[in-house]
Amino acid sequence: MKNIKNICIIAHIDHGKTTLSDRILEITGAIEPRKMREQYLDSMDIERERGITIKSHPLRVFYKSKKGELYEINIVDTPGHVDFTYEVDRSMAAVEGAILLVDATQGVQAQTVANTYKALEHDLEIIPVINKIDLPNANIEETESEIEDLIGIPRDEIHKISAKEGTGVEELLELILEKIPAPTGNESNKLKALIFDAKYDKYRGVIIYVRVFDGIVKPGDKIMIFSNRQTYEVSEVGAFTPEMTPTKSLKAGDIGYIIAGIKEVSLARVGDTITSAIEPIETPLPGYQEIKPMVYAGMYPGVPEYYEELRKALEKLKLNDSALVYKPDHSPALGFGFRCGFLGLLHMDVVKERLTREFDMTVILTAPNVEYKIILKDGTEILINDPAKFPEEGEIQEIYEPYIKLSIITPPEYIGKLMNLVQTERRGVMISTENAGHERVVLIFEVPLAEIVFDFFDRMKAVSRGYASMDYEFIGYRKSDLVKVAVLVNKEPVDALSIIAHKSKAYTVARKLVDKLAELIPQHQFEIPIQAKAGGRIIARSTIKALRKDVLAKCYGGDVTRKMKLLEKQKEGKKRMREIGRVSIPQEAFLAMLRIG
Ligand code: GDP
Repeated sequence: MKNIKNICIIAHIDHGKTTLSDRILEITGAIEPRKMREQYLDSMDIERERGITIKSHPLRVFYKSKKGELYEINIVDTPGHVDFTYEVDRSMAAVEGAILLVDATQGVQAQTVANTYKALEHDLEIIPVINKIDLPNANIEETESEIEDLIGIPRDEIHKISAKEGTGVEELLELILEKIPAPTGNESNKLKALIFDAKYDKYRGVIIYVRVFDGIVKPGDKIMIFSNRQTYEVSEVGAFTPEMTPTKSLKAGDIGYIIAGIKEVSLARVGDTITSAIEPIETPLPGYQEIKPMVYAGMYPGVPEYYEELRKALEKLKLNDSALVYKPDHSPALGFGFRCGFLGLLHMDVVKERLTREFDMTVILTAPNVEYKIILKDGTEILINDPAKFPEEGEIQEIYEPYIKLSIITPPEYIGKLMNLVQTERRGVMISTENAGHERVVLIFEVPLAEIVFDFFDRMKAVSRGYASMDYEFIGYRKSDLVKVAVLVNKEPVDALSIIAHKSKAYTVARKLVDKLAELIPQHQFEIPIQAKAGGRIIARSTIKALRKDVLAKCYGGDVTRKMKLLEKQKEGKKRMREIGRVSIPQEAFLAMLRIG
């Protein structure tokens, strides 16, 4: 076992993780570069297109050291997005070391710092590496200062490479052999393996990615998943070369996969422990958590008749995505649908996109929400993630909302604009600032999660011209002065349009809501008041004037077919409307709420 090295690569998107992995595969002769590239491409289209690899396959390579000894090196991927921090944590638990990869033209980014701290918590040996030194605008010295200041690694320990040209990559492999400790553990102990990822395959069921800590697992063995006590018979084990290649067994220290006829990924969750069903261990590996959604939204089929199809599609997606939660819901405005919980906005986008691509379903998502904790006057505590279900003002004693610690790394010239964005627009409070090198500052804030779930990332990028990066972590619930802003159309409340807002913002939000709706709801034969109500009072109002002429008047005397066409068109438009009382509201109006908040 002393000739195994297990590592992960910590890198910001585009800093060169894939290129470095390609180069390592090439140097170790595992596979031709072109073939490998294709494989990367088709395994994860959605994420690649967005420049975000949630997670790709681990890799196993064999490397013969300069001294002539043969080593197995396993490289595990870590997701590059804040929605998936739990997965990062579990990937790190599977390895002994980390390569910290920083692009010399971009410098250290917020998430890289957060993930490096996480690696330190896991006691991983860290090898700091500056990449892209071949580029003329590589700023090596400044990047060294940033690594030194932010992570506390002395600059003379930093290794420099060009993953693209291959410069320094073999030396990096030698460094891995020299610095990363070999896995500990014992083959003759009872089986103890960590699930650090799981994928669903249509034909083979769930493929579990594991790190074996103790014991041996091989085809025919009976295994048990610790948290749910389910038992299965192993049909195949193997390594990622990078294709899945069957092996005789996986032993203590190994990283590989297990196939055991498991039907859905929620039965073999990331972080869970696998042991022998015959001779189980007594205590599982530490750190397993049920992942909890942070962001919720209503999901409705564009056309009501597709409800059943949407239900089936979600069921199938869930086989593959244990973080997705959903339950049936009904909205007077949008009909039958689901209330869904996501890890974050990226996760929500990925689910929506997969529904379109894999199931041909176009769905309507309502504005994303966080989950509020409410103490009612009678002392009961409830959790609410749907503004439509918010209790009446009179019943509420206290409201709590989730808060995060937000860290932003930025060149100093954007500090003012970023502070304005976070503090003035998003109710954030600055906790500290710190210099990193000469060209970067770390800003730490505490901010309500609700303020960043919607369009914060884009705004941050806009005000910093793309230079700032962010990371956040949940820090707990805090008491807050929130109100429900409810909308009344023609005096009838429309629950699907309600929004939870901080008291200080209620008026502005209410104004925007009623104005926008007045714009989007077509004129009717009668006058329609649009009102926003909060705390028992109407706080904003807008009016849609009555329609004077009837549609046909325009073509009076014109030919009949034109009239018919017009009527036909009107009928089509109607289909996409929802009747609220006597008023037809176009679906667009509901969607517009996504842009207010
Ligand atoms: P990832 O998102 O971390 O996997 O990043 P990639 O490996 O996809 O690299 C992002 C971009 O940077 C690609 O266009 C690469 O060709 C480029 N790149 C990666 N490493 C180097 C390098 O050492 N030098 C140069 N010039 N470009 C590089």
